[in-house]
Amino acid sequence: MSETAKSRAAELSHLRSRDFANGDPIPLPLTMASIFHTPGVESGIDQYGRYDNPTWRAVEHVLGHLEDAQCVSFPSGMGAISAVFFALLKSGDRVLLPADGYHATRAMAERFLKPFGIVCETRPTPTLLDGGFEGYSLVFVETPSNPRLDICDIAAVAKAVHEQGGILVVDNTTMTPFGQRPLDFGADVVVSADTKAVNGHSDVLFGHVASRNADIITKVTDWRAMAGGIPGPFEAWLVHRGLETLEVRFDRMCSSADTVAQRLKEHRAVTGLRFPGLNGDPSHNLARVQMERFGFLISFELASEQKAEDFINNCQLIEAATSFGGVHTSAERRMKRGDAVAPGFVRLSIGCEPVEELWRAIEKSLDKISG
Ligand SMILES: *Cc1c(COP(=O)(O)O)cnc(C)c1O
Repeated sequence: MSETAKSRAAELSHLRSRDFANGDPIPLPLTMASIFHTPGVESGIDQYGRYDNPTWRAVEHVLGHLEDAQCVSFPSGMGAISAVFFALLKSGDRVLLPADGYHATRAMAERFLKPFGIVCETRPTPTLLDGGFEGYSLVFVETPSNPRLDICDIAAVAKAVHEQGGILVVDNTTMTPFGQRPLDFGADVVVSADTKAVNGHSDVLFGHVASRNADIITKVTDWRAMAGGIPGPFEAWLVHRGLETLEVRFDRMCSSADTVAQRLKEHRAVTGLRFPGLNGDPSHNLARVQMERFGFLISFELASEQKAEDFINNCQLIEAATSFGGVHTSAERRMKRGDAVAPGFVRLSIGCEPVEELWRAIEKSLDKISG
């Protein structure tokens, strides 16, 4: 991790204390309130729970510190993504989405943007730059893409999109701000499903929008206040707590993923292994330029649906679950969710278990299916 990322991590736990009065609680108080004390005509104070909440502000402060940007929190990753679409797009606009990214983003565009007269097109992540961006008002990328872990050049895409007058939105869920900071490469907006590694404990859905463009932040904030898709204060409080350990968890998860990927490469049951940290992976050279870490997701193929199911279900240290980024290592056969992958395609999300124990469990389960 770079020196600046380390100092961001070090400062994170002490952001609140800069404004402390004597006797203030060190951890974040939880404000469960729909109404606030508002006599007279004073403005600039909390008025009503759909507009603002001190616990949201605290979590947005920490996220903003990590993104170097203003952040707006949402009750889920899709809440954040839909806010960007509905706040920034209008009838007649053209939008480009990744063909190989998170399926719900595409499905939402297809079902709910199209009927408003917004044209939605897709392109695969590895060849996203091919064809240029003329006529697109918004280009949305996910890098690494989920579940195949292909990547695209954020700086090159941002430059080409801007030349055509569009904006670039990056879904940074798989990396977190400790792994990659798309705004530094010219992206206009970052969206994230903090449901995943940012919260990290698999007990909350949450999301955020980050931008250094004040106009975009105003529109997205206004959308939230009017549409009413607001985060619960308790969920915000839990995510704030998760953020305090994000750097430790992410560091462990990425280091372990590196070790596990190197060893999977040698295992006879595994084919089609993808991990951006592997020398020779199609994503590797670009990953070294734009990613601080190589992430905690690994994907590979086993010989059949049955073998993939057996590998996942018989491994003592893998939870069979959709989603990723939690403290528990988890895996899923992605064809189950409709991704265009082989029946034996497995996405593995490395958790926080000690790595040698984790590897022994993975190896044992792989040995059993290749017996
Ligand atoms: C999970 C996920 C989302 C959606 O997040 P929710 O919190 O489930 O709404 C969006 N993008 C990516 C890449 C995801 O993995």
